[in-house]
Amino acid sequence: MATPILVTGAAGFIGFHVARRLLAEGRTVVGVDSFSSYYDPRLKEARFARLSEFPGFTGLRFDLADALATRQLFDRHGFRTALHLAAQPGVRYALTNPEAYASANLTAFVNILEGCRHTRTEHLVYASSSSVYGANTKLPFSEADPVDQPISLYAATKRSNELMAHAYAHLFGLPCTGLRFFTVYGPWGRPDMAIYRFTDRIARGEPIEVAAGGEVRRDFTYVDDAVEAVIRVLAGSPPAPARQEMRGPDGSPVAPIRLLNIGGDRPSDLNRVVALIESELGRRAVRLTTALPPGDVVSTSSDASSFAALYGRVSPTSLEQGIASFVAWYRSYHEPGHIRASGSDPVPD
Ligand code: NAD
Repeated sequence: MATPILVTGAAGFIGFHVARRLLAEGRTVVGVDSFSSYYDPRLKEARFARLSEFPGFTGLRFDLADALATRQLFDRHGFRTALHLAAQPGVRYALTNPEAYASANLTAFVNILEGCRHTRTEHLVYASSSSVYGANTKLPFSEADPVDQPISLYAATKRSNELMAHAYAHLFGLPCTGLRFFTVYGPWGRPDMAIYRFTDRIARGEPIEVAAGGEVRRDFTYVDDAVEAVIRVLAGSPPAPARQEMRGPDGSPVAPIRLLNIGGDRPSDLNRVVALIESELGRRAVRLTTALPPGDVVSTSSDASSFAALYGRVSPTSLEQGIASFVAWYRSYHEPGHIRASGSDPVPD
């Protein structure tokens, strides 16, 4: 039997979708999640329950910051491919909970690298973020752009992941691909993110906080498109191992790493997002304008050409279609159980 693929953060938004797609394609998946309390754990429970319906799914609950448990996980399964999506997301939450980022995004990441190193995992694919581009104003963001000035602790930990992966690739020949996701949204999405929060509040007739008069622009990426990109990366060849003849400009060996933007390629402002949600719900929003929160950026836009050159272009789902699918899911999920959205980021990741 083929070795299972590891998906960390499998009870999370993107992890759930990727795991479900892999399982539907007949792969076996070991999903790990700590069910962190950052947002409503009932949503995570519901996602995990869906995955558990597949016979090929093994669901494990533990904290990847636990070095011993993580090492035992790798020793037991000997994953050839590992997809590491577990993390503490969110820009604002880090202002009051920095230790959560140190534990989930740094300690757990080292434990994943160690597990991969010791069991000779052939490809580690992990989540980075568009936030590594900081306050860059040159759009669209390309992987070659400078990323040495993060403006949030979240972004700093995501950039740290890229640097740590580089070190392990260089030292131990561990092939690593970092995926810089751009504002992923869709059914089963994160309640702390803008599209979910706006939908929830407008549906209840409550005011929404729209940062910077709605001028904020994001490269909204529909989750199925992000999943398609991840699936292509998992199915493709890992970055080539470092070889003596592969030398960088300074003579150092080139580590087997890749960094790829995973973005929708079609940025949109929050005013348009609100208008589309209003239209789907058939209700007008009551809007409160707030300042751009510290750590957030005005615009993101992804240059997806590096991904397309390697794996082909993923045709982006339109924002109209994506929001319609999200609102339809929102309605079905919240009726009749009526689960309250939580979180506080008025602009998206
Ligand atoms: P999510 O919060 O829904 O999923 C992350 C999951 O990781 C959660 O279920 C959480 O319980 C789990 N987790 C956290 N710490 C853990 C730990 N120490 N051990 C085990 N499990 C742990 O977030 P998401 O939106 O699905 O994001 C997935 C990844 O993509 C994250 O790394 C995130 O930083 C990154 N990302 C997401 C977006 C986006 O728009 N959704 C954008 C950029 C980057």
